[in-house]
Amino acid sequence: MPRYEVTVEKAACDGVFACLTRDPRFVEGGDGLATIDPDADPVYDCEGEVADTRTRVVAAFDDDRIDEAKRAAAACPTDAIAVREVDE
Ligand code: SF4
Repeated sequence: MPRYEVTVEKAACDGVFACLTRDPRFVEGGDGLATIDPDADPVYDCEGEVADTRTRVVAAFDDDRIDEAKRAAAACPTDAIAVREVDE
C-alpha cells in the first residue's frame, strides 16, 4: 500500500471546494478554507495523520485511495493541493 502525503497550501486555497466532491476527506475548515478530516468520509473508515497549521494542511495516509486525492488535486482551480508518495 502506498504511503502518501496530501498538502493544501492555504494561501492558494480560495474556498471553491471543488476538492470536496472528488474526495470526501476534504472538508471546509473553521477558516472557510479546505482542510482534511479522515473521519469525514461517510463510506470508508479512513485513518490518517493530519497537521493543520496557519499556512498549510499536511495529511499522511497509508491506504489505496491516492487516486481520489489526486482527482481532488486535479480539480482544484488554484493548484492548492499537492499529492506525493513518500517512502517509509
Ligand atoms: S478546490 Fe482548491 S481552492 Fe477550492 S477549496 Fe479545495 S483546495 Fe481550496
